[in-house]
Amino acid sequence: MAVSPGQTVMKAWHVMIRRNRFRQRMTQEYCEPQTLLLCLLWALACGCSDVQTPASTPPANSAEPTTERGMDFDLSAVPQAEEFVPLQRSSSAKDNRQAAVSRNVAATDAGGNDRRASLKVRLPDDRPDLNDARLAQAGIRRYEGRRLILLSDLPEDTVAHLPALADQLFDHLELHFGTLPKALDDSDFQVTGHLIDNEQTFRAAGLMPSETFTFDHGRHWNYQFWMFDTDDQYYRRHLLLHEFTHCFMTCEIGMLRLPDSWYMEGMAEYFATHHVTKDASDSTQTTFGVLPAGFEGFEGWGRISEIRRSFLERGTQTASDTEQLTIPTLDDVMPNDAKLFTRYSQYATSWALCWFLQSHPDYREHFHPLAKLRTRAEIAATVGPLRERLQPQIKIDWLLFVEALRENYDIERSFPVHSKTTITTTELATAVATCEIQAALDWQDSGLRLAAGESVNVKCSGRFSVNDRPKPWISEPQGISIDYFRGLPLGQVVATLVRTDGDSISNRISVGTGTTITTAHDVSVWLQVNDSSASRQNNAGVVNVEFSLPQQ
Ligand SMILES: [Zn+2]
Repeated sequence: MAVSPGQTVMKAWHVMIRRNRFRQRMTQEYCEPQTLLLCLLWALACGCSDVQTPASTPPANSAEPTTERGMDFDLSAVPQAEEFVPLQRSSSAKDNRQAAVSRNVAATDAGGNDRRASLKVRLPDDRPDLNDARLAQAGIRRYEGRRLILLSDLPEDTVAHLPALADQLFDHLELHFGTLPKALDDSDFQVTGHLIDNEQTFRAAGLMPSETFTFDHGRHWNYQFWMFDTDDQYYRRHLLLHEFTHCFMTCEIGMLRLPDSWYMEGMAEYFATHHVTKDASDSTQTTFGVLPAGFEGFEGWGRISEIRRSFLERGTQTASDTEQLTIPTLDDVMPNDAKLFTRYSQYATSWALCWFLQSHPDYREHFHPLAKLRTRAEIAATVGPLRERLQPQIKIDWLLFVEALRENYDIERSFPVHSKTTITTTELATAVATCEIQAALDWQDSGLRLAAGESVNVKCSGRFSVNDRPKPWISEPQGISIDYFRGLPLGQVVATLVRTDGDSISNRISVGTGTTITTAHDVSVWLQVNDSSASRQNNAGVVNVEFSLPQQ
């Protein structure tokens, strides 16, 4: 559901008001001497001039797209301790934690020359202690793993396995982001998750945050998260892993100075997208960060379908790029300044971008250093120059990737293939240019560059196969008539025109044995044998392509 411009303005206004209130409250209520010391240490550790204490309680919050989908963190967060009434923590446990914080602060102060390095710490454990008798009385069961305590009023067989899944994800997250530093209070990393069937049960037990800490699906705050149950087994696990990832990614910086939303939400979606398999001995194996192979086993996910719905193919095919697909550009998905999500579809595109950056052979090494960074400023300072250096190719590749994205996308064969040489109409004035298109690859750069207003004749020939079962399906450039893909015959040669600045991509253009293509923009001409990006491995052969200028 899109947010109307009016809603967006209102939201921005509310955010501004809440942020101002927060700063006021921080000054008035949270800057006790002990807290001020922590503020100072955090500022030293992060080199940040905007000194704000990592908040310890969930905020009041109301103006944001709801889903978590809804924003589950918000830079406008307002800690309001009096509105959050958790189960009471025992004073002895609290005192022990506080004593540990003091010891670590003192040790840090003695660190002298290497103060910044020694201050690489995790937030202290801010979770309330749990009262088992009160939990049992309320009908809430506790399931404890090393990294997750899960509280739920759902049947045991529905949820008892989930802490072990979080333990597996924790190991995977440490492999990616690095080993977590020690906590200020010496506590181990552990999160308390609330998986809620009946909200009133949790509210009556004092386990819900303030009523103004709203969420439709799930939301986290430091070492805790809350999520409503979903009917889909896969999506229940997915949401839990998503929130757990947020807890992991924010445990060093708290809820302030968070990286931009495309990164926070995209990486949470990336790691939460998982696949569970069972081996011969019936033990389960979980793989995180997958691209779903299909719909079965990923019920409730639907990110690729959501992306595809956002640029539904039009019914008519044209021989020009007058019809542009409404695929969000890289600038739209990875904005330089926006921190908040205003559309639900941003979760899907942010997931796709993070998967793309983690998987594409040309970009994953460039973006891997982000794993060692934590704050918005650090990440923005790295991403900005990277984008400058990689543009426009990365923008073009992004559009072509999204255009072809499907479940079971073939990572070996379906990323766009660039041409090492280019030709223009100036060269076509004296000679016909040729290239080959492989049936086993998705979008391929023909090398042809057209300026706005130019036209070119395209002629295709050759025989190739578009399937190998039960025997090769032989096709010629017009395609075969027994199967269709995206409304065009399977195997038909199709083109797309991508603006050379990477700002838009055209609808698919039917080429077949030949056509004349005209462009209204400066573009590169890309070709493929019409087929799914998930079904390239059973194709073989090439198409011979000739480019010439139309007769005057
Ligand atoms: Zn999230």
